This record gives sequence, structure tokens and C-alpha cells, in this order.
Amino acid sequence: MAESVFDCRMCGHCCEGKGGIIVSPTDLTRISDFLHISCEEFIERYGMLHNGKLKIRSGDNDYCVFFVPGKGCSVHEGKPNICRAWPFFRGNIEDPESLAMAKEYCPGILPTASHSDFAAEGRRYLREANLIASDPTCEANALILPPEQKNKA
Ligand code: SF4
Ligand code: SF4
Repeated sequence: MAESVFDCRMCGHCCEGKGGIIVSPTDLTRISDFLHISCEEFIERYGMLHNGKLKIRSGDNDYCVFFVPGKGCSVHEGKPNICRAWPFFRGNIEDPESLAMAKEYCPGILPTASHSDFAAEGRRYLREANLIASDPTCEANALILPPEQKNKA
């Protein structure tokens, strides 16, 4: 069997950054249920609005507030779709240069993976995991693939 193009090394790089984690309405229900709090409480305690979209706040260390150093994501089972989809973002699936930069950033991406193999495995994964979004008003643009990309095997 061919080696997978991605195997997370748990380094935490992708959990660092200010306000990149978009929480769609579906995400909000799932993560609030996971934390056993209401959606309203989640928004108040952990959310922020940016350009009209709900996002998870970052802590003082610039990591997502749910990232625990040495342990990783503390809401793994309830985490948003954008976190489930990485590194199979639209840019990396469509653009070899973007994938090359992602390889520098994410040690989980197989360094020798070709762009075509990465894109094919990514599209398959996104489709099977139901991670292809369609509403740019509340979902991450990185999850929205054009129709011809959605349908490729
Ligand atoms: S940057 Fe890549 S290897 Fe590191 S935690 Fe994120 S997905 Fe895993
Ligand atoms: S929700 Fe979890 S996986 Fe997503 S950025 Fe926060 S700590 Fe990382």
C-alpha cells in the first residue's frame, strides 16, 4: 500500500496563530456539546467575531485557547472542521507552491509527496469526512472547493 501523504507529528504548529480557527454553526454545536456548555456560553467564553465569522480566540501565547503544550488539542473530538481538514486546504490542493510552503510548516506532510498525490488524497479525505463546505458567509474559505475539485476522485 502506498505511503500516506500525511501523518500528523503532533508538533502543534497549526494551533498557533491569532484568530484563524473559524467556527461554523455545525462546529459550534459540536464543540459546545463536547464541552457540555451552551452555544451562547461557548461564544462568550471562547469566541470572537472577525469579518462576520465566529472564530476561536488565541491565548497570550498566541496559540488557540484549546491547545495544551505537550498534550495537544484539548477538544480533539469536538474540534472545528477547519482543524479536521488541515493540511488539505483548498490552497494546498490547488497550488503546488502553496503545498511546498505547507511542507516547510507542517512536518506531518510527507516531504516526497507529489502535488497530484497530495491533492487526490486530500479531495478523497475531505469528501469522505464530509469536510467540504459550501457557505462562505460562515465557513472557512479554505474548506470550499469549486465543483470540479469536489467531484474528482
Ligand atoms: S503542523 Fe502538521 S504535524 Fe504539526 S500538529 Fe499540525 S498537522 Fe500535525
Ligand atoms: S481547536 Fe484544537 S486542533 Fe483546532 S487550533 Fe485549537 S487546539 Fe488546535
